[in-house]
Amino acid sequence: MRALFFVAPGQLSVMDVPDPEPGPGDLIVAVDVALTCGTDLKAYLRGHRLFKPPMPFGHEFAGTVVRVGSGVDRFRVGDRVAAANSAPCGSCSACKQGETGLCDDLDKHLNWGAFAERARIPAPIVRTNTFHIPDHLAASTAAALEPLATVVHGVESARLRLAGTVAILGATGAIGQLFVQVLRLAGASRIIAVGRSTRRLAQTTVLGADVALGVPDATPERLRAETAGVGPDLVVDATGLPEMWELGAALARRGGTMLLFGGCASGTTVTFDTGRLHYDALTVRGVFHHTPRSVEAAFRLLAAGRVQVEPILEDRSDLEGVERLLERMARREIVKAAVYPCGHADGAA
Ligand SMILES: [Zn+2]
Ligand SMILES: [Zn+2]
Repeated sequence: MRALFFVAPGQLSVMDVPDPEPGPGDLIVAVDVALTCGTDLKAYLRGHRLFKPPMPFGHEFAGTVVRVGSGVDRFRVGDRVAAANSAPCGSCSACKQGETGLCDDLDKHLNWGAFAERARIPAPIVRTNTFHIPDHLAASTAAALEPLATVVHGVESARLRLAGTVAILGATGAIGQLFVQVLRLAGASRIIAVGRSTRRLAQTTVLGADVALGVPDATPERLRAETAGVGPDLVVDATGLPEMWELGAALARRGGTMLLFGGCASGTTVTFDTGRLHYDALTVRGVFHHTPRSVEAAFRLLAAGRVQVEPILEDRSDLEGVERLLERMARREIVKAAVYPCGHADGAA
């Protein structure tokens, strides 16, 4: 089969490799569609601490089962499936605390290789985080299961109350536009989208934001004016930029929460005003990855048509075109794109 490999930072290569073989409990799928992701872009540009090149690449996908490992009874050849990129071990100390998104085994079990004609879904993921795609659901929508699961996990971690007010920094990115939609579903009464792209800011209002602001306009005074004089109950950072973390901490209301969703470059630091943390009782909450609960919830939202993915898929390609897509993402021309390794499109991109 043909598969895309990460060779070195800034260098990908399509190679001919043997088809993957299913071990006990595994599934082999023909990849119908895979999506590019900010994580792929970061790995493409600077490498990834877990990569030993040449490394299979891509992690968001939907496919059709072509081979079934021994002992699998929930799936058969021909089933359309979507799967997350990991599953928690269930037995490490984090898993036992119920913090399955922080599973110690995550690094070992992260599943790469979605940018390929065929992909293997390892047994733990088959057991816990793989779903049948209903006939009405486009593969390109189902393929957004993993990013949506991280957003669902983020929203649930933030413990937003019904009718709460929210500001999203980086609302114009792919993740930000998913946050807009999930926060609306979670009962937010006012969503303020903050971002750089004028065109995508307008799109956030179509997806559910009440106000869209350019970054220079997102001042504490303006945010208070937009939220009955107090500031948002919740500020979500979806940029992973230290300066935006610091901005977010200045924007939330007294007693509010700042959710740190976007991962900053390693080694970076931020400075927070101690008065905001103590006298204003600001909660600063980190969140990472997803949990089986959030993956299942994300799948239900996609299957029920409650979250739109098509608006954030801004380009498409075959395997050879992935490098072009990532370069376009790096230039901020697109936020996310659909890749069709087997050449056929499902019409949703
Ligand atoms: Zn992703
Ligand atoms: Zn674990």
